[in-house]
Amino acid sequence: MSVISCRKCEAEMVVSQPDKIHTELDRKILNWKDYVKSTSKCKKCGNTNIFYWSKSKD
Ligand SMILES: [Zn+2]
Repeated sequence: MSVISCRKCEAEMVVSQPDKIHTELDRKILNWKDYVKSTSKCKKCGNTNIFYWSKSKD
């Protein structure tokens, strides 16, 4: 579980990782070869936030 803030109202949202491999969370695709796109709707303002999970670097 990770916490991300809503892009619109900055309310915190708790999000669950999609699997055991992709554990790093970011708003944008960094220098990743493999990632999972995910979305979460803010309960406060209804904005749909897009974010991405990548593999940890080890
Ligand atoms: Zn919001």
